[in-house]
Amino acid sequence: MTTTVSAAVPAAQGPAPAPGLDPDPDGSTGRDPGAHRVLTGDRPTGPLHLGHYFGTLRNRVRLQRRGAEMFVVIADYQVITDRDTADRLGEHTENLVLDYLATGLDPERATIFAHSAVPALNQLLLPFLSLVSVAELSRNPTVKDEIAHSDQSAVNGLMFTYPVHQAADILFCKADLVPVGQDQLPHLEVARTVARRFNERYPHADGSAVFPTPRPLLSDTPLLLGTDGGKMSKSRGNAVPLSADEDTTARLIKGARTDADRRITYDPVTRPGVSGLVLLAALCRDRAPEEIAEEIGDGGAAALKRTVTEAVNEHLRPIRARRAALAADRGHLRQVLRDGAERANAVADATLDEVRTVMGSV
Ligand code: ATP
Ligand code: MG
Repeated sequence: MTTTVSAAVPAAQGPAPAPGLDPDPDGSTGRDPGAHRVLTGDRPTGPLHLGHYFGTLRNRVRLQRRGAEMFVVIADYQVITDRDTADRLGEHTENLVLDYLATGLDPERATIFAHSAVPALNQLLLPFLSLVSVAELSRNPTVKDEIAHSDQSAVNGLMFTYPVHQAADILFCKADLVPVGQDQLPHLEVARTVARRFNERYPHADGSAVFPTPRPLLSDTPLLLGTDGGKMSKSRGNAVPLSADEDTTARLIKGARTDADRRITYDPVTRPGVSGLVLLAALCRDRAPEEIAEEIGDGGAAALKRTVTEAVNEHLRPIRARRAALAADRGHLRQVLRDGAERANAVADATLDEVRTVMGSV
């Protein structure tokens, strides 16, 4: 069973949290967030959106501020799981770095790297693939969903195996905590299975385990819906990018799917479209969604959309300003990636050496 670490990490006010005030995202052990090694990441398939922001980015930044050791993977090989070629890969990769820095990740404290730049990480895929059955891979609900949304006429092998690749992304740095959205829970389960089976099959000579068993960290918003009522996704044309300008944001929200009932309520089960918008305004204003719905009352979808647009634009204004300032220096973005790759390679080489040793291949 997946042990999901519950709830968001409460916001940190400054770089150093006051002792004793740290949240405990790992309730069962009482560990301080600063004691965790955290791996998170994204595919460079387009600009990060509000689903990323409320689903994982804010938790990443909070964990970083609280002293957790952060690794952030730009999963470039995983782009070609559901498309034939990786379109504008370099540009998307640099833009992810820009989104990270604008939302508060600090490259001095977080190792940000593209996984194609870390060969030893990718080599872990080979032993890991031997630890899962084909039946287990084909049961994965997120893989099935991504296949359903893919433009490809045939499903490629990388699509089936990428949850195992993701296990390599997580385990190469021995991360124990992974802030993710809900769609990633089945993949986390694969990573946990891989870690457990590897440890059972290949313990150290003294009996100790090579890998920790990683846990997902879900935010309060593990699944933000897009303008079409489905999961907000970079590749599904239903996202509000963090980097969009204010007019584009207004246009995207105006196009969101709602219903004919003028009375605005918060009822995610029966009114997913309206409720998704209400939730967005609530998240941006740090208010309860029921309160937002009550205030709009009989104003209908148009008033709701105006409120949401204003709330999103207001909330993102400082992030967008920081992003614009950082965007001027592309050289800096590439340097962040080079530094990150250097650090990630050192860690991956050491892990691969350890793996070879316990497997008896040295
Ligand atoms: P793509 O459509 O290209 O797969 P994506 O929008 O699904 O893009 P990913 O790069 O696959 O983004 O996911 C990166 C991280 O963001 C994952 O942890 C994922 O769970 C989280 N995430 C993505 N979309 C949402 C969402 N709508 N709500 C909450 N979390 C999300
Ligand atoms: Mg995705």
